[in-house]
Amino acid sequence: MSLEKQPSCDDPFDNLMPVEQARERLTQALRVVDQTETVALIDAHGRVLSDDVVSPVNVPGFANSAMDGYAISSASIPASGVATLQVLGTAWAGKIYAGRVQAGQAVRIFTGGLIPEGADTVVIQEHVVLNDDQVTIDSEVTPLRNVRLAGEDVKINQSVLLAGTQLEAAELGVLSSLGINHVDVYRRICVAFFTTGDELCALDKYSGTSLEPGMLFDSNRYILYGMLSRLNVEIVDLGIIGDNAEDTRTAMQQAADVADVVISSGGVSAGDADFVTQVFHELGDVGFWKIAMRPGRPLAFGEIGNAFFFGLPGNPVAVMVTFLQFVQPSIKRVMGLKASEPFTIEATCLSKLRKSLGRVEYQRGVISNDERGNLTVSSTGKQGAGRISSMSAANCLIVVAADVAGVEPGDLVEVQPFQGLFG
Ligand code: AMP
Ligand code: MG
Repeated sequence: MSLEKQPSCDDPFDNLMPVEQARERLTQALRVVDQTETVALIDAHGRVLSDDVVSPVNVPGFANSAMDGYAISSASIPASGVATLQVLGTAWAGKIYAGRVQAGQAVRIFTGGLIPEGADTVVIQEHVVLNDDQVTIDSEVTPLRNVRLAGEDVKINQSVLLAGTQLEAAELGVLSSLGINHVDVYRRICVAFFTTGDELCALDKYSGTSLEPGMLFDSNRYILYGMLSRLNVEIVDLGIIGDNAEDTRTAMQQAADVADVVISSGGVSAGDADFVTQVFHELGDVGFWKIAMRPGRPLAFGEIGNAFFFGLPGNPVAVMVTFLQFVQPSIKRVMGLKASEPFTIEATCLSKLRKSLGRVEYQRGVISNDERGNLTVSSTGKQGAGRISSMSAANCLIVVAADVAGVEPGDLVEVQPFQGLFG
């Protein structure tokens, strides 16, 4: 792979690479981690299946009642819809009624109880009148009513979950319903990160009195830690690296030795203090892309040793935006997950948004339902890439396409919500 040499300047916008092209290049370059392991289901949450799971059983395993009521043969009820039946016994959930139900007979049954032989329908208890051991039914009865059939959820030999599926609560539910207690998953990947900048002060090195002039607190390590924590990867924090070639080289080599994916922040522009750019040229097969987006224009991507490397910009908002657009989907691919670009929905924008032509803008927004239930989104206000508080105020990114000059109140816009339902 020689990303450096590939031109990024086929587009008309000032030699910038379109976001879509950056995504395609990532897709081509990334590989799934190739080691797998077998883990107990209880330890498998968040892991990614490396093989399809074929069901060894039917679920449910037997026909059972969906309601509390009486199991009968539908033939017992005449066309007039009224009949009195003899109650033979009870089918509880987990305690079967072993006998057979004949015409004119019924078995008291509870939800989950096995449908006794001879019965083909369940009449709910609200539709019967009970007198000692007799029930009178005067409602319409149809075969299979309130009956859950064997295999209606999952059929035996069905491929129920495919390789590349991440195991969340629902998948653990499916696998446990099949009696599967061990699964084959991809190895958990390791992601190492560091931040760069002589101006950065680590919170644990801070005396608590005042920062030296020109210094600021390192936010990006906390941001990266927070975003990586949602991905079920092993995380290695290599700290703050000063703006010099030697420390940058050491950090990079260490990171590439231990991790499958390495992320840095800062130092990826072409300035004198941008040592990430300089050192990565020596160390690996790394490309520096100027992407037609804001925030987050400079991005380095490539391979160093066996690790994929992402050099993100320094501004905290740019770190978050580039992470969400490129790094998170890439990590998911390396983990073995099927492609997953950020999820988008449409909403009516209530704010006027200014932007320049020729680049995609990811503006911070707040999405909500208006009184009629329609999705609307408002800007959080000023959009500087250093304003990390704007990310905290936001619950989504408003994505405004490169060829759009601005947005007027009432326009439909594309929105990427931050919240996953289960994540
Ligand atoms: P750089 O890309 O290294 O030139 O950084 C761009 C801007 O982001 C500068 O104003 C930096 O001070 C700021 N910045 C870089 N790294 C961090 C960090 N870890 N936490 C907060 N701000 C940062
Ligand atoms: Mg810097």
